[in-house]
Amino acid sequence: MRLLFRLLPLLVLAGCRAPTPAPDPAALDPVAFRYVTLVLALGTHDANYVDAYHGPDSIRTLAVAESLSVAQIGASADSLIATLGDNVPRYADSVVALRHSYLRAQLGAVTARARMLGGERMSFDQEALALYDAQPPHFPDAHFDSLLAQLDTLVPGRGPLAQRFQRFRDRLMIPAGRVDTVFKTAIAACRARTLAHMPLPPGERFDLEYVKGTPWNAYNWYKGGFLSLIQVNLDFPIPVDRAVDLACHEGYPGHHVYNARLEESLVDRRGWLEFSVYPLFTPQSLIAEGSANFGIDMVFPGPERTVFERDSLFPLAGLDTALALRNSAVREVVERLNYARNEVARRYLDGELDSTAARLAMSRYWLVTPEAAAKTLRFIDTYRSYVINYNLGRDMVAAWVARAGGDSPEGRWRVFTELLSSPRLPHDLQ
Ligand SMILES: [Zn+2]
Repeated sequence: MRLLFRLLPLLVLAGCRAPTPAPDPAALDPVAFRYVTLVLALGTHDANYVDAYHGPDSIRTLAVAESLSVAQIGASADSLIATLGDNVPRYADSVVALRHSYLRAQLGAVTARARMLGGERMSFDQEALALYDAQPPHFPDAHFDSLLAQLDTLVPGRGPLAQRFQRFRDRLMIPAGRVDTVFKTAIAACRARTLAHMPLPPGERFDLEYVKGTPWNAYNWYKGGFLSLIQVNLDFPIPVDRAVDLACHEGYPGHHVYNARLEESLVDRRGWLEFSVYPLFTPQSLIAEGSANFGIDMVFPGPERTVFERDSLFPLAGLDTALALRNSAVREVVERLNYARNEVARRYLDGELDSTAARLAMSRYWLVTPEAAAKTLRFIDTYRSYVINYNLGRDMVAAWVARAGGDSPEGRWRVFTELLSSPRLPHDLQ
């Protein structure tokens, strides 16, 4: 009672104070405009930086005309971060709060990339945090050795594991003349399964092209207007399970859907310009790659992928359907071995392994041919710590969907759809 009596004047005073005015959501628009300009400006220094841009040509013209140095771009991004402040104000609309923190995190990555282009050296882990807002886990070799031991029992026979694994994979290659049919069948299935749970923008579509000599296996180039160009590299024979990987990851509900839904929900409906540009070396890539990879589990939960591959894709490719089940068990282990790529990339980029040792480590833990190991190293030379976005990103999205969406398919699709339509970044998945 006595305490209440003492507090009462303070409470009355607090009640009399004028309420803090709600922050103006439109104050973010000029920051967003400048952010887009700076991303396009950085793209003039770094050919891989701008993955997609479908905003007004006038901003690209402005970015080129300003002709800013990387140091000036970094300084401008820093001043925008200062404008945004350390804390997200209490917006009435929670999606506007996500927008505020999205701009701040993306701008932080712009400054980091500008510093890198200016010559600053970061460790692999520092770079992953600065560019992708994530801390990749460390695994000892013993972890991967135990996975190799599991794999050993799944591909029995004579000779070293790498050779047995390769012989097994060779039996899964799609004959060149059937690649297009197998891919298009997988794409149609992924699209139908996505549409069953999530509306897609009207008229959305993508074109498929086959290419050679690129550092990546497949790439989605988003053109805007709900249109993508998906390119597939044919440098190496393609195993049958790449069809579902590609159809889901690049298409439905992967990159194509993510880009199209962001354009529809945030650019068209809200007029948020920053979602008309996608800078590659930023936290948005962890969401893009993570949701694209986890998209496979969304459209093919549990054993459904294996059943679809066995009953549809294996026959189309003329492959032995009896291999589908064993391939599924092998794939489960190989997916966990994917973290070995992060470890090799970390040690190689941090100077602990030279290129020869890195290729050997990749051959050992990924069981790839020397040619494929060399290709992966070229990818790491170009994209560096970006590799974490595939596996760590997938696992972060998977954990968030399970936590926020619960056990029901409806709940999981609801939060997954939200993720593909909102400014959520890695720190929003914690
Ligand atoms: Zn991707």
